[in-house]
Amino acid sequence: MKILKFGGTSVGSPERMKKLLDIIQPGEEKQIVVLSAVAGTTNALVEISQAFTTGDKRKAEALIKGLRVKYEEFVEELFVSQEGKENGKELIDYHFNFIHSFARDLFTPIEERVILAQGELLSTTLYYFFLTEIGVRSKLLPALDFMKIDEDNEPTIDFIGEHLSAMLAASNDHQLFITQGYICRNAFGEIDNLRRGGSDYTASLIGAAIRADEVQIWTDIDGMHNNDPRIVKGTKPIAHLTFDEAAELAYFGAKILHPQSVFPAQRYNIPVRLLNTMDPEAPGTLISKEGAVRGEVRSIAAKDGITAIRIHSSRMLLAFGFLRKVFEVFERYKTPIDMITTSEVAVSLTVDDTRFLSDIERELKDFGSVEVDVNQTIVCVVGDFSLNTHGYASRVLDAVKHIPVRMISYGGSNFNISLLVNADDKIEVLRSLHNRLF
Ligand code: ADP
Ligand code: ASP
Ligand code: MG
Repeated sequence: MKILKFGGTSVGSPERMKKLLDIIQPGEEKQIVVLSAVAGTTNALVEISQAFTTGDKRKAEALIKGLRVKYEEFVEELFVSQEGKENGKELIDYHFNFIHSFARDLFTPIEERVILAQGELLSTTLYYFFLTEIGVRSKLLPALDFMKIDEDNEPTIDFIGEHLSAMLAASNDHQLFITQGYICRNAFGEIDNLRRGGSDYTASLIGAAIRADEVQIWTDIDGMHNNDPRIVKGTKPIAHLTFDEAAELAYFGAKILHPQSVFPAQRYNIPVRLLNTMDPEAPGTLISKEGAVRGEVRSIAAKDGITAIRIHSSRMLLAFGFLRKVFEVFERYKTPIDMITTSEVAVSLTVDDTRFLSDIERELKDFGSVEVDVNQTIVCVVGDFSLNTHGYASRVLDAVKHIPVRMISYGGSNFNISLLVNADDKIEVLRSLHNRLF
């Protein structure tokens, strides 16, 4: 069984949606196709939710109307038959009337998540209707019936595997299955999601849960590049990455993959391919267990929105148990730490989740003085920096010698050198590292 995930641009127009069949080529092999929402839809749903949250019903109405018109045009172009067009219109009526029904006084994050789910529900059903119209047999699998996260927002692979396998077994005579990326149910049974860009995560979770042969992430670029192509000119695709390297790049900001999306596939050793819908013949990137390239820098990524916290405490390292106490504060607030550096008198940490920052800061003040710097960026260089390679740290530092660096992390693993810099310096750091390292 193969899992094929198509992102927003890959289903971004009726023409694109129709072309997916050239890639899927339904046949003997069973396939699960995971679809994102049509490009721009989730952003529009976020805006609509914001308008509801602020009580600006007129703005919400205008936004809903604008999005609806786009879908009406989409349906008009996607379907050929009158019946297909009617079905499409009915679907749009249903979802948009539903979104509209939230124009009431109480609008909470629970309702917001219900609204955000409409994008993937729309794209998958439209695609299913399209396949039906042209006589391609498929089965629509509701992700809300098997994709589940627990109280800590962690996916439950066993639950997903059990429920999805039962659904697949019940439709054993089908070869082609369609399901929604991104959306799930939480521990309370409410509609929730896997965070922005989460369809990659869905595909990897499904691949892991049913031990698929391969997960393919089809997007708008020919694989993982060696730097952020939105910022740096002349980036190149990387043919092969290990799970560790890909996980590091995804976690530290390479937008092509959701930050958590490598771990499920890695855990069950399911190869992941990053492929280009616009150029299906391009080799893309294969992510698998093997294939580390010895002594080479592979790629550079950057993660924005980082907050650095420095706790200054006299004779800190002499006091054993100090770091444990610091970490426990973050644990209590379920706030993951990304980077850490220490000295005799202070420890610096970074977080990207600042929801509980003021509580954390208050508790940390028990240990010493606390300084907080917002608007930081982690720039992460990934490659083989194992013990018998040398010279990489000096090349990295040389590339940024004209830029103030707040933290440096090296040696935590064999494949990552991270720098914390001011967000304003990010572009220069990425470009300068690119020129120096490639
Ligand atoms: P999709 O909608 O298919 O999920 P995304 O926009 O989430 O697509 O991810 C693909 C985009 O990621 C590319 O268009 C590219 O601009 C961006 N990107 C950022 N860093 C990288 C990188 N290192 N390699 C490839 N693409 C990257
Ligand atoms: N539609 C969701 C988003 O825009 C999920 C995804 O595209 O992966 O974030
Ligand atoms: Mg994406």
